[in-house]
Amino acid sequence: MARDPRYDVLFTPIKIGPKIAKNRFYQVPHCNAMGYTEHHGDVAHRRMKAEGGWAIISTEQCSIHPSSCAAPYGERRLWNDYYAEQLRGWVDTMHEYGVLAAVELVHNGLGFSNRKTKEFPLGPSANMVHYNWDPIMAREMDKADIKEFRRWQVEAAKRAVNVGYDIVYVYAGHDIALPQHFLSPHTNHRTDEYGGSVENRARLIGELLEDTKEAVGDKAAVALRLAVDENRGEHGIRWQEEGQAVVEMFSDLPDLWDVNISDWAEDSATSRFADEAYQEPYVAFVKQKTDRPVVTVGRYTSPDTMISQINRGITDFIGAARPSIADPFLPKKIEEDRNEDIRECIGCNMCVAAENTSSLFRCTQNPTAGEEWRRGWHPETIEAKGSDDGVLVVGAGPAGLECARALGMRGYTVHLVEAEPEVGGRVARESALPGLASWGRVRDWRVSQIAKMKNVEVHTGTRLSAQDVLDYGAETVVVATGSRWRGDGVAYTNAHAIPGSEGKKVFTPDDVMGGAALEGPVVVFDDDHYYMGGVIAEKLRAAGHEVTIVTPLMELSRWTEYTLEMEKIMSRVLSMGIELITDHNIAHIGDNSIEIYNVYHEETRRHLSYQSLVLATSRLPEDALYRALSAAPEKLEAAGIRTLARVGDCVAAGTIQHAVYEGHRFARELDAGAIADVPYRVEEVRLERASA
Ligand code: ADP
Ligand code: SF4
Repeated sequence: MARDPRYDVLFTPIKIGPKIAKNRFYQVPHCNAMGYTEHHGDVAHRRMKAEGGWAIISTEQCSIHPSSCAAPYGERRLWNDYYAEQLRGWVDTMHEYGVLAAVELVHNGLGFSNRKTKEFPLGPSANMVHYNWDPIMAREMDKADIKEFRRWQVEAAKRAVNVGYDIVYVYAGHDIALPQHFLSPHTNHRTDEYGGSVENRARLIGELLEDTKEAVGDKAAVALRLAVDENRGEHGIRWQEEGQAVVEMFSDLPDLWDVNISDWAEDSATSRFADEAYQEPYVAFVKQKTDRPVVTVGRYTSPDTMISQINRGITDFIGAARPSIADPFLPKKIEEDRNEDIRECIGCNMCVAAENTSSLFRCTQNPTAGEEWRRGWHPETIEAKGSDDGVLVVGAGPAGLECARALGMRGYTVHLVEAEPEVGGRVARESALPGLASWGRVRDWRVSQIAKMKNVEVHTGTRLSAQDVLDYGAETVVVATGSRWRGDGVAYTNAHAIPGSEGKKVFTPDDVMGGAALEGPVVVFDDDHYYMGGVIAEKLRAAGHEVTIVTPLMELSRWTEYTLEMEKIMSRVLSMGIELITDHNIAHIGDNSIEIYNVYHEETRRHLSYQSLVLATSRLPEDALYRALSAAPEKLEAAGIRTLARVGDCVAAGTIQHAVYEGHRFARELDAGAIADVPYRVEEVRLERASA
C-alpha cells in the first residue's frame, strides 16, 4: 500500500561524503552482547535490520588496538587482519541489501582496564579507569603515545575500507572513548597543547578526523560520533561550550555528525526517566553549525516525531539502536503504510542489561532478538501450523498474549481466556506505576495484532477452573496464569518467613497495585532488587505518605545497574524525600514498629515505627490450575487434550522479557518435534584460528 506522503521525507536519499544513503533510517552503533565471540549471531541480527529497510547499519564499538580491550565483553576488534577478515562477511551481508556499512572505531582510553591484554590503560592524564572500580590508573599519554594512537586509528581505518566499510567513525562518546577523555575538562588535566583551552582539548579530535579522511580517501565517508554534553555541569563537556566549539571548529571536516549525550546511561535513558526525543535540547544546535548531515537518537518509534525532527531541522537521519532492536522492520512498516504494526520499544533496557551481564542478547518487545542465528527465528515470519488442533491459552499477561499472537500467526485457532476484565496481566498493573506507562506497549501491540486475526478469539472476565478447561474442547492447552508477590518476605536475604509478616499491616506490591488503602508512615522493604521496591515507594510518596525504604544491599534496586537506572533511581527517591536505609534486614515485624539490623553487624538493632509495610521481595507461580490438570492425565485424555503446557511466570516468575520470550518459544515449537530436539546452535571459538 502507498504510504502517507507526509512520511516521504523519511525515504529521501541523502549524500554522506562519497556515499549515498537510500533513506533516513540509521542504525547507529550499538553493542548486542555478541560481537566477535558470537560473530554469526551478530551478523544475523544486523541482517534482519538490513532486510527491514535501514539505510545504514553500524557495528558496535570496534577496538583499534590491544591497549583498548573491553573484556569481559566480546566487543568487535580490528586489531589485525584476522579480525578484519571476520568483518568482511558482515559488510558483504549489508551490501546484499544495498545498506551502507559503518564501523565505529574506538580506543576506549579510560573506559576499560584491559583485563585480558594486561596493557596499561591510556588517558590524557593519570586518571582512574572508569570500569567497575578496577584499581588501576591510566598512563598519561606523552607525545609519542599520541602519535602511536593516531597510527592505530589510521591502520584500523585502512583495514576497515579494505573489507568494504562505507562509513568509518572517529568516536568521542559515551565516556568510553579516548578523544572524549581528551575533550572533557573532567578527565583532561594536561598543560601542553592538548590540554587547557577547548581548542587544545579538541586538538586530537581534529587530528584524528584529518588522519582518518586521508586513510580512507574516497572509498568511505568519515563520521564523528561526539558526546556534546556529559551532564556534569562545568566539570564536564557542556553543549553550550565544548559541544558548540567542536562543531564550529570542525564543521565540514567530517562527512557526518553523529551527536548524542554521555554517558551510556544518559544516551540510553529508559522510559522511566526520559521521553521520546529527549536529546533534542542538547543536539538541536548542531545542524545550525554545519552543512554536513547529522544523525541523532532519542528512542524514536513514532513516525510523526521522526518527520517533526527532520522537518524542524534537528536531524537528517533517524538514528536508532533500541527501536531497531524492538522492530528491525520499522522502516519497511512506515514505507508500506503499516505504522500500526510497529513494535515500539518500551525503553526498559533489558537489551542493555544483556550486554552488561554478558548474556545472550534479548529484548522485551522482540523475542526473536539474539535468536536470528541461534534458533533461526525471524521477527516477521513464522512456520505455518503443524496440526489442526485448537488451542486454549489461559491467562492474557505478556506470556499468554505473545503465545496467542504467535500461534495465531501460524494459523492455529486460538482462544485466549483471561480472568480479569482487561487483558495484560502484570503489564496492565505495572504500567500504571510511576514512570512505567510505556511498558503498556507490550500489551497494546499484541492486542492490536491479535485484533486483526480472525482465528484468535479473546475472552475477558472469565476465570477458568480445571473442569472448565477439560470441558473447553481444545486439543492444546497453554496455562499462562502468572505469579503473585509473596507476603512472607522470603527472598534473597530471608530463607524463611519474616516473623510477624502475617500481620494486618503487611502488604505486597500486588496489594498496592490493586488499590489497597495504606496508612503512613510506610516502610518498603526491597529484597527483590529490580525496580519494584523503588517504584512502589515513589507511588506511595507521591500519594503523600512518609516513606522509608529498607534494603539489605548497599544500593536500592541493585540490579538496575545493568539497565543503567540505579543511580537515577537512587537520586530520584532521595530527591522525593524518601528515607533510604541500606544494608539492613528486618528481624521482626511488630504491631507498631519493625525491628531492623545491619546485615554486616547484627548486634546493631533499632526500631522503625510504621503503619504499613510493603514487602517487595519475591514471587510465587500461580500454578494451581496447571498442577490440577497435570495431576490427572486420564482426564486430559478423556477430554481430548493432547498437549498441556505452561509458559511464563506460572513456571518461574521472571521479567516481562522472560514471559514474552517463553510464550513465543512455545508458539514456535508446538508441533515442531525436530526443532524441539535441536533447540539451538552454539557458537564456539576455534582454537587454531583464535591463535592465528
Ligand atoms: P505472565 O507474565 O506469565 O504473562 P501475568 O501474571 O502477567 O503472567 O499474567 C497472568 C494472567 O493470567 C493474569 O492476567 C491473570 O488474571 C490470568 N489468570 C490467572 N489465572 C487464570 C484463570 N484460571 N483463568 C483465566 N485467567 C487467569
Ligand atoms: Fe526497547 Fe526494552 Fe527491547 Fe531494549 S529490551 S529494545 S529497551 S523494548
